[in-house]
Amino acid sequence: MLRTLEERDIRFVRLWFTDILGYLKSVAIAPAELEGAFSEGIGFDGSAIEGFSRVSEADTVAKPDPSTFQVLPWITDGRQHSARIFCDVAMPDGTPSWADPRNVLRRQLNKAADQGFTCYVHPEIEFFLLKDLPVDGTPPTPADGGGYFDQTFHDTAPNFRRHAIEALESMGISVEFSHHEGAPGQQEIDLRYADALSMADNVMTFRYLIKQVAFNDGVRATFMPKPFSEHPGSAMHTHLSLFEGDTNAFHNPDDPMQLSTIGKQFIAGILEHANELSAVTNQWVNSYKRLIYGDEAPTAATWGRANRSAMVRVPLYTPNKASSRRVEVRSPDSACNPYLTFAVLLAAGLKGIEEGYELPEEAEDNVWALTPAERRAMGYKELPGSLADALTEMEKSELVAETLGEHVFDYFLRNKWAEWTAYRGRVTPFELESYLPL
Ligand code: GLU
Ligand code: MG
Ligand code: MG
Repeated sequence: MLRTLEERDIRFVRLWFTDILGYLKSVAIAPAELEGAFSEGIGFDGSAIEGFSRVSEADTVAKPDPSTFQVLPWITDGRQHSARIFCDVAMPDGTPSWADPRNVLRRQLNKAADQGFTCYVHPEIEFFLLKDLPVDGTPPTPADGGGYFDQTFHDTAPNFRRHAIEALESMGISVEFSHHEGAPGQQEIDLRYADALSMADNVMTFRYLIKQVAFNDGVRATFMPKPFSEHPGSAMHTHLSLFEGDTNAFHNPDDPMQLSTIGKQFIAGILEHANELSAVTNQWVNSYKRLIYGDEAPTAATWGRANRSAMVRVPLYTPNKASSRRVEVRSPDSACNPYLTFAVLLAAGLKGIEEGYELPEEAEDNVWALTPAERRAMGYKELPGSLADALTEMEKSELVAETLGEHVFDYFLRNKWAEWTAYRGRVTPFELESYLPL
């Protein structure tokens, strides 16, 4: 690391960590400070950062994780590269901070490890490219007019995906697929699987790089769950599998879906706890504008194979590829905190395995086409329809409280109820259009 810094004349090493809501935080240090950062960490004012304040008082310490050292792809001022390292956040006495999402995920991964499992994740990340980023409430303009899998041309950003993938791969993040998604301006990039902690770091890096590449190409990127009323929103479909050593614990060659009992129990756990997890996987008021009928987003805690209205999907199996047997959770959106999202999904899945939950019947129907009464009669559990509904479900959840830890759980609920209250009092364009003549 020190050699790379010297050889590439790197003057700034950015120490990165993530707050509870999933915002990336960064403090740059000079290479000369790096050895000290490894031994003692870099102190910062925890009370100035959302959610770090209550237990930590002011003094909090960022401890770089050397395995995450990477050089950023751009040369600043035509001369110099910068590097970044993800940090674990610690209390002044060296114990891991309860407010650090990376620590929340580590704790959950340790629980999985106690049961003999390693968790692998790959996300499909959707987002929009926009010509502009107005923040005064006027609708943005998509950067292109393409649709699903379209090879667009005459774009504002014709080479955007190539530039994005080059930037990601230069930082060790491999890309499996990329394509235009269904809505104008909407893109999708699917990352090759990695262990859950590395993947959560990768998702944070991804968002940063995508925004920067978009900016360099003269457009803007947004991970907002649903920027346009008339178009689908942006999902972060999350594929998960558990391995016992080199063996994929979700694979059973004798099952018609090649899915093991462990895999089925894992899905059952996610479905059973779906409503409690929702505030974490879909954390914004706007998230619930995406989870509506149509537009390929889930609305009920169901599972299926080809069925894209289901919340959990068992994707097509590649014959003779035991390692690729996995489950796909389709509810999370692209503006979730990836550390907390992977932690709660894993906790629910493991709960299903521990308790031996039964997998409910596969959803055969297009659940979007059914009436609410039909859906209830068929036993489908609706997902929360608003952030308020989701928070009410989360408040009752022992599983989420235990997974997030008391501090994050309390902070999250307080912060999100405040968001809901602020939103609830706002008069929207819908109301003005519909009710002004009253
Ligand atoms: N954009 C859709 C959603 O919000 C998902 C589309 C897809 O199936 O890839 O869930
Ligand atoms: Mg997609
Ligand atoms: Mg998918």
